[in-house]
Amino acid sequence: MTSFHIFKSIFNSSFEFYGLSEWLLEIMPDNVDINRCKINRSHHGWIFRRHNARSKFICMNCMKSQIQLHKEKLKINTWTSVYTTILFRARLDKSFNGQNIGRIQMRIFEQGCHTCNIYSIGILDENEIKRTFYWLYIWILETFYNVKFIDNELEDICIQSKGYNRRQLPHDSSRCDGCRAGWCKYLYRCKNKNSLKRHTVMSI
Ligand SMILES: [Zn+2]
Ligand SMILES: [Zn+2]
Repeated sequence: MTSFHIFKSIFNSSFEFYGLSEWLLEIMPDNVDINRCKINRSHHGWIFRRHNARSKFICMNCMKSQIQLHKEKLKINTWTSVYTTILFRARLDKSFNGQNIGRIQMRIFEQGCHTCNIYSIGILDENEIKRTFYWLYIWILETFYNVKFIDNELEDICIQSKGYNRRQLPHDSSRCDGCRAGWCKYLYRCKNKNSLKRHTVMSI
């Protein structure tokens, strides 16, 4: 999995560059109920939003067992998923001296290995993390600063912008925590199939 420190450091530099340095990134606590059916748009001041990204999974459990068996040819179980679900929730508060303090919490949903069924989090490369935070920046502007955009279907554009040669299996919904919680884009793919839209900034 990609370490949270890497996310945080790219987030900090990106949001400073965007002029939103009052926003902080945190890991979403485990006790947050993230089942989509149970979350209203605003939940104790938190606003939730799902982002769909691409990541590579390496099953460490399969890798370990292969090493233990002393196999000459190490077969590492890896797969790439274009349905990697990241859930964000954000809140903007005023501090005691009247300054804005924004908090963003994130959680990346795990997927299960089709060989051993052990769950893990995918690895996002640096460009994918930057794209994710650019999308997050657009969403924060729209949600908390009333900036209007024509469309924010950035994620579709990101996913289709590059070919991928690595091994891609069909998305296994039964081994996807994002599907289980109702957030995975895979669940909504039919509705969106014919509606790829352009993203254009109207005003800031
Ligand atoms: Zn495995
Ligand atoms: Zn899924």
